[in-house]
Amino acid sequence: MSTAYEKSTAHEMSTAYEPSAAYGNGVPVLELDAVWKSYPGGVHALRGVSLSIARGELLGIVGPSGSGKSTLLHIMGMLDRPTEGHVRIDGQDIASLADRELSALRGRTLGFVFQQFHLVEGMTATDNVATGLMYAGVPARRRRATALEALDRVGLADRADHLPHQLSGGQKQRVAIARALVTRPALVLADEPTGALDSRTGDAVMALMRELHAQGTTIAIITHDRELAASLPRQVEILDGRVRRDTGLLAGSEATA
Ligand code: ADP
Repeated sequence: MSTAYEKSTAHEMSTAYEPSAAYGNGVPVLELDAVWKSYPGGVHALRGVSLSIARGELLGIVGPSGSGKSTLLHIMGMLDRPTEGHVRIDGQDIASLADRELSALRGRTLGFVFQQFHLVEGMTATDNVATGLMYAGVPARRRRATALEALDRVGLADRADHLPHQLSGGQKQRVAIARALVTRPALVLADEPTGALDSRTGDAVMALMRELHAQGTTIAIITHDRELAASLPRQVEILDGRVRRDTGLLAGSEATA
């Protein structure tokens, strides 16, 4: 995953604070409709990807290196626009939005979790989580309490004043997950969230993801790890820029187009 992507999303948050209850309207949280992403020289990173994510889903997007996962993540994260096709967030086509509006919508609706955590060194766990609220219209005096609630949700209330270097890898990822959750996003996009962790710690982070899903959080996990993806309720396999298989479609899930 590129540095630009990580920088542009790790601390960029919204201009308004809207609870995710706003998304309980039956409209998919995120819809990709025949999305192509092409680069000069005839490189087609995505070739007509259609994907629909319903509120409350936990899915894995899996594919080998070069299959188009990063490109897809950029499109799903509204960090890039498709060359052809449509992307709708909560029913709204992003093509109609200016870049600034798109950023605001991204901050309001999406939470990002990265392989390498991207916590700010020198800031406590609470302050790291609170950065997620800085641009979210939450008054300063409420940010700390809201951040503490999010830390509590990931089981780290007792590490609130720790600095990143005082935390284990798994704890760092929990803080990062709390930061992603603190704005109550409609969708959490997790990019190889266990990729930097040993397998036991990775399992614990996945258990947390499942727990958050059980509580209603919508989560898409992007991974090259087929075993991890196979453990999730829905798997979308990407190969050569196309959806090769979508178990959501096979199951006749309402999430599918
Ligand atoms: P993955 O994340 O699964 O490894 P990517 O989305 O990074 O796959 O890449 C998919 C394909 O698109 C690859 O062939 C890659 O070389 C190509 N690609 C990705 N980004 C660019 C770009 N900016 N310019 C040209 N080709 C690109």
